[in-house]
Amino acid sequence: MSTQVPRIPDTTVPPPSKWWVLDPDTNYQIGSNSYRNLKVQWAAHRKGNDLNHEPQWIEDTIHAQICARDPEYCTGPVPFKQTNGQPSGDPTLLSMGLGFTKETLKWIRGGARLATKEQIEYRKSVCEECPYWEPNARLGMGKCKKCGCAGRAKWLYNTSKCPVGKW
Ligand code: SF4
Repeated sequence: MSTQVPRIPDTTVPPPSKWWVLDPDTNYQIGSNSYRNLKVQWAAHRKGNDLNHEPQWIEDTIHAQICARDPEYCTGPVPFKQTNGQPSGDPTLLSMGLGFTKETLKWIRGGARLATKEQIEYRKSVCEECPYWEPNARLGMGKCKKCGCAGRAKWLYNTSKCPVGKW
């Protein structure tokens, strides 16, 4: 796993969205009261399901999922706040979580590189005009109601794609 994965700067400080991850293989949400316990509990869950529980994978994926949810909390370049738009569409909460987790894992496996500033600006401008865009969701981070991904994180990933082909 690469050092380009965004990192939690201080794992003794809880993230705004709390210590939890969504397991991409079992669809199980694991929450804990600390970073250390989350690592232990998730590794035990994956081990119990005969899945990869290699410590570096667990650690990198915790960092990636939490940093995708709470970009300002992590190190690395994380821009924007958005302002407007209109909701439509109806993915379930679970499918939204899974879609976003899959986007994050695809991005990590693709080398965890960020989109260019121009790409991010373009994506942002297109989403903000789109009827699927919900600006106030995800604690003001916004989300695409078509795929359920959180806006700012989705714009940042170089591997992201608009589900209806607008970018
Ligand atoms: S990702 Fe595509 S469908 Fe979703 S809000 Fe942006 S432009 Fe619309």
